[in-house]
Amino acid sequence: MDEIHIDKVLRSRRRTIALIVTPEARVIVRAPLKTPAALIDDFIKKHHGWIWKKVAEMKERPQAIAHAYEEGEIFWFLGRSYPLHIIDGPGAGIQRTDRLCVPRTTTPDIRSGIQRWYRAEAAQEIRSRCMWFSMMTGYSPASVRITDARQRWGSCTNKGGLNFSWRLIQAPLEIVDYVIVHEFVHLRQPDHSQKFWTKVEALMPDYDLRRKWLRENERLLKI
Ligand SMILES: [Zn+2]
Repeated sequence: MDEIHIDKVLRSRRRTIALIVTPEARVIVRAPLKTPAALIDDFIKKHHGWIWKKVAEMKERPQAIAHAYEEGEIFWFLGRSYPLHIIDGPGAGIQRTDRLCVPRTTTPDIRSGIQRWYRAEAAQEIRSRCMWFSMMTGYSPASVRITDARQRWGSCTNKGGLNFSWRLIQAPLEIVDYVIVHEFVHLRQPDHSQKFWTKVEALMPDYDLRRKWLRENERLLKI
């Protein structure tokens, strides 16, 4: 039996021990405050097979792209890939053709310019999809905001406002739509109960496939 490396043990006021394997394949144990170390070791041994399986699964998933913001690097927009093309001389801002054309003079730098562009595009696309789903479902969010979140693609405030990360706009439209529908249903059902998923399914019968795509490809969206 191979040794399992535990990255972190987090103790808190909880009642049970739980194991988490992060998308980066790190193994984290959550345990009640006074759990003896031996009990934690036992728990890990007992779940050895599950941990290995999970770690292997996470390692197989697509990795985040580390961008250097150089010519030819791939950027995703609504599920399609666009190689970066850096234009010399003053351009008319960032343009998406079959490439992502970015003037070299973009301020303060190309990286921030691209992120600003993504954010503006995300605001436009996500707001228009939200309007469409409002018409389809009769649910209406109090506001739609675009955030800089790296993990939470969407969230719902207790005042009925919806937040979406601009990073989501890199994913195919059907994935963007899934996150929107998910948050729309939260307007009326704040938890992830069976009732919640039944409502999601009623609006989007193949939601599970889209959810799976997002789980498996989330690292692609982390730029
Ligand atoms: Zn949710």
